[in-house]
Amino acid sequence: MERIKEEFDKLLVDVKDQESLKQLKARFLGKKGRVSELFKNLRNIEPQKRKEFGAKINELKEYIEQRLNEKLLEIKQKQKEESLKKETIDITLDGRGINFGGIHPITLTIMEIEEIFSSLGFGVEVGPEIELDLFNFELLNIPKEHPARDMQDTFYINDNVVLRTHTSPTQIRVMKRQQPPVMFISPGRVYRRDSDITHSPMFHQVEGLLVDKNIRFSDLKGVLSGFLRRFFGDVPVRFRPSYFPFTEPSAEVDIGCIICGGKGCRVCSYTGYLEVLGCGMVHPNVLRNGGYDPDIYSGFAFGLGVERFAMLKYGIDNIKLFFENDLRFLEQFSLAKGRLL
Ligand SMILES: [Zn+2]
Repeated sequence: MERIKEEFDKLLVDVKDQESLKQLKARFLGKKGRVSELFKNLRNIEPQKRKEFGAKINELKEYIEQRLNEKLLEIKQKQKEESLKKETIDITLDGRGINFGGIHPITLTIMEIEEIFSSLGFGVEVGPEIELDLFNFELLNIPKEHPARDMQDTFYINDNVVLRTHTSPTQIRVMKRQQPPVMFISPGRVYRRDSDITHSPMFHQVEGLLVDKNIRFSDLKGVLSGFLRRFFGDVPVRFRPSYFPFTEPSAEVDIGCIICGGKGCRVCSYTGYLEVLGCGMVHPNVLRNGGYDPDIYSGFAFGLGVERFAMLKYGIDNIKLFFENDLRFLEQFSLAKGRLL
């Protein structure tokens, strides 16, 4: 046993890594190791000395186990020190930059429109994108034979249900729910079978409605002129007579071309003006359909295309850019360049 102990001590000195430590352990404590051999030899010992002998083997076994554990800790410590020496961290390197996300220009435009109208006291309402024909057309005074209902323009789900072609049905939904005064805008997605560089089959509108007693066309003019000047800057605003089934009288609103400053260019078709929204005094039939008495109440409504506003404001010439998710385009609206939430 003394010899085994000496041999072990001698070999242990040369152990430098965990692998050779494992081998050494197997050699002495393994099934066929030196210590196990000693236990096997116990049966050759005289019975009265067996106990004493067994205790001594156990002592040796414990000694070896303890030395092996000490050595293992020593090796691990040494490995740790070496790796600390090798793996230095260069704290002078620049950190990775934080990437700011951006707000999509369509969302940015809707937020700005909402902000302007909120400051005037307008609320914000939303309506469903899958809408009843009744709300999308009928109650808005758009009769069955009206060209806007043409299969070419409208995505029909069935005879009674459509993808809404405008945000105007929200007018009916709110009027049916609430008596005047009402004043709100309603932004959202709308759908039409139309696609070219300025039209997309899915696009965004903002609807607006104000109904109360004694609301006049001058209120419409004041609110919309003020809104357009806040959105586009100090531009001329003009109202042209127009026709919509749900308003009477109706008007289209132009602003002085912000591209050429009114001199005439390709964008404004050399007229110096850009058409930006449609509006009018709410048709008595529509008020009645919403449950309001047109002899007591009057109001105005308007609708605008968000893509058009965004294209004009940011100088974008193709509507598809909004929906292609090209980062080179979207990054121009990152938080660093746009406004912070
Ligand atoms: Zn122009």
